Amino acid sequence: MHQDTTVCPQLGAVSAPALVVPTEEEEPPGTGLCPQGAMVRPRGQSALHNGVPLARERVARTSLPTRRFRRRFYPEIDDKTWNDWQWQVRQRIRSLGQLDAMLRLSDAERAVLERPEGKLPVAVTPYYLSLVAPGDETQPLRRTVIPCAGELVQLPGESDDPLGEEHQSPVPGLVHRYPDRVLLLLSDFCSTYCRYCTRSRVVGHGGISPSRGRLQAAMDYIRANPRVRDVLLSGGDPLTLGDERLEWILSRLRQIRHVEIVRIGTKVPAVLPQRITPKLVRLLRRYHPLWMSLHFTHPDECTPEAYRACARLADAGIPLGSQTVLLKGINDSVPVMAALMHHLMRMRVRPYYLYQCDPISGSGHFRTPIAKGLEIIRGLRGFTTGYAVPTYVVDAPGGGGKIPLMPEYAVGHDAGGDMLLRNYEGGLYRYPDGCPEHRPPRLH
Ligand code: SF4
Repeated sequence: MHQDTTVCPQLGAVSAPALVVPTEEEEPPGTGLCPQGAMVRPRGQSALHNGVPLARERVARTSLPTRRFRRRFYPEIDDKTWNDWQWQVRQRIRSLGQLDAMLRLSDAERAVLERPEGKLPVAVTPYYLSLVAPGDETQPLRRTVIPCAGELVQLPGESDDPLGEEHQSPVPGLVHRYPDRVLLLLSDFCSTYCRYCTRSRVVGHGGISPSRGRLQAAMDYIRANPRVRDVLLSGGDPLTLGDERLEWILSRLRQIRHVEIVRIGTKVPAVLPQRITPKLVRLLRRYHPLWMSLHFTHPDECTPEAYRACARLADAGIPLGSQTVLLKGINDSVPVMAALMHHLMRMRVRPYYLYQCDPISGSGHFRTPIAKGLEIIRGLRGFTTGYAVPTYVVDAPGGGGKIPLMPEYAVGHDAGGDMLLRNYEGGLYRYPDGCPEHRPPRLH
């Protein structure tokens, strides 16, 4: 059996999670580990330490930045209201005036916010804004949600629809690229808009509505195509729909016999974890096999609230994978990526894809060279748990689909037919490749 015990010099620099100071007691609904490693367990069960029950346990309920933010800007708002996902959506921070009151905006940020013609709207939930550094325009989470001047610059090779989704859309809001699966956009609404969004051409513009007529047309298309065994629900964010509409969609998909699995792509556990209510989870578990791809970008998103949201989903038997976009100055280093992947593992979310940032218009300030992605994979593979290493992919511009990229581990065959392989530490190893009878005899 292999054991992953080697310590990477780069990973040695990973800092401890910065956000959480446990001060309040709570009995969260699920099992899992909170960022400090304190056990989050089902109500009524006691925690164990070396097999001995702990008499009393303190588990973080929220992070210090969130508590400070609430005290400062929402002192009258009680916990029940703050934790109401619909209140969070209604109270989204959207205007220059609101942002100006809550953050110290730089001149560059202000200049962009003053322009009315931006492609992608601005919206941030109060919860997510509580994680944003008020005085530091370079803070990773801030850069993902507050526009900056780079957004207005279109570089060669960029386009509004780099993946060519519009050309692979037989029904409005449905993309059929691969033979056995389709992408169904439920709406174009998100609680928080990411500045690097691949679908910034449609997201937040109101053109893709979750109307029954449009969705029924999509269901009819899926029903008429028996090769479709997998439906990915995306958007916008599917989990910003109400329970009733979600149930309507899931129940109809489940009536199509050849649809084997349904997947939901969502950023809600990171930006609106309050949405993962016990009621929603009871609803979702009725439609297994149901999978989820969660969009996490940076370790600072892995708060106690996000941990609890993922615990609820995992406890409902929903396999969880993560999707992360590689972003310059945000998560483009081995220590930051490793910290994020380690958080995800503790949240029971399997790191799934690391995406090269798509060349959408105005994304130049977010995009790294592909060599950076390969460097990060090289810094993870072998140096940490294999499950914690995502597949690095480029979504081919023009609609070619995801193309996986790996550092060069296979060096090539030598004259004797052996395959030369490079391991994670750079050492060369030889494998007797091919059929033994076809290999030239070796002289001793
Ligand atoms: S949550 Fe997804 S769809 Fe919504 S803005 Fe972010 S990347 Fe785009």
